[in-house]
Amino acid sequence: MQPIPKESDLPKVKLAARGAARLKQGHVWVYRSDIASADGVAPGALATVTDPRGKPLGTALYSSSSQIAIRLISQEPIADFPALLRQRISDAIAYRETILGESNVGNTNACRLIFSEADFLPGLIVDRYNDILSLQILTQGMDANPLRETVISELTARLHPAAMVERVDPRVRELETLPPRPSGPLQGTKTSTTFTMNGVQFHCDALEGQKTGAFLDQRENYAAAAQYAHGEVLDVFCYQGGFALHLAPRCSQVTGVDSSRPALEVAEQNAALNGREIEWIEANAFDLLKDYAASNHRYDTIVLDPPAFAKTKRDLDSALRGYKELNLRALKMLRPGGILVTCSCSYHVSQANFLEMLASAAVDAHRTLRLIEVRGQAKDHPILLTVPETAYLKCVIATVSL
Ligand code: SAH
Repeated sequence: MQPIPKESDLPKVKLAARGAARLKQGHVWVYRSDIASADGVAPGALATVTDPRGKPLGTALYSSSSQIAIRLISQEPIADFPALLRQRISDAIAYRETILGESNVGNTNACRLIFSEADFLPGLIVDRYNDILSLQILTQGMDANPLRETVISELTARLHPAAMVERVDPRVRELETLPPRPSGPLQGTKTSTTFTMNGVQFHCDALEGQKTGAFLDQRENYAAAAQYAHGEVLDVFCYQGGFALHLAPRCSQVTGVDSSRPALEVAEQNAALNGREIEWIEANAFDLLKDYAASNHRYDTIVLDPPAFAKTKRDLDSALRGYKELNLRALKMLRPGGILVTCSCSYHVSQANFLEMLASAAVDAHRTLRLIEVRGQAKDHPILLTVPETAYLKCVIATVSL
């Protein structure tokens, strides 16, 4: 294990004026283009960040290759970095206990325990699925030892999971010029389990599937949608059945649509686990909605939860066209009094963009929409007010009145 250097020995990264201004406004990222000098700073190193005149602004992890070169850890010097990490892990766990605590005991045993910047642990994501922890490391800094080992040992000491797995995003490792490594167990041998969200049960194979497993960010939206859903339901982009399974108890018939067969196979297992009968259709959602709209299919509730269409700012216009097409078709298929649950997980599509798109889709579909709820991500994915990138999920629940 490499010892962590003392604050006074830390290398220095000097920021250009724009980078310094960004930190002063409360952001924690500085882009490479806003760095004046980072001579001799090793990839992933902890560094003292200064303004253009050399005045310290805080301590940060440095990436030698990402466009996000600086991720601030503290506005102060750091005396003992592993101790600070352990404290922040403990605070993140305590925060989940507070927000999930009383109302949810026995009802939910899966949540995001650590959400990177929003938990002051940039580059680290940890999800809990009942007795398995799934860890994702996204930066050179967090990947380096002894940080990696500190994280694993602190999580183990606090939570005693049956197993811990690492989910590797190969593209992220490439961007961070980190050597490739496979996803796999870090501790224990268990890789699958079942977990509960809002009392609904799900299978989890911690090394399969998209993201780190399930879409935990939708947990509160599942419960909200279930309050209003009724009749015949179409859950479009259903993945492993998150919405479909939550809505089934209140609805007469539920159909889930996704283009991924492996996702639908797990969805079917999830339905069996909860004793529900749901129809799963493997199809391209755009084609299916077009066909169904043309052949006069009608529903009382439609859920749209597509993947992020805008991966970058440049994709915004084409993303909005994609969202509009989906929403327009869904609106045409809803019966009067019907419920639309429509989501976007693209950070680059703001809530205002999304509502404007929806209004325009409603006008074109000749339907009148009333908003019931405008929602975001579940509270275990906290939003840091001065870091807008931590807020990404939109979920609008609306009723078609005409
Ligand atoms: N609603 C889900 C999450 C959806 S994630 C939940 O709550 O768990 C987006 C899903 O869209 C993925 O399962 C992906 O397989 C699916 N998908 C992506 N493109 C698609 C397409 N063109 N047609 C149908 N499904 C698609």
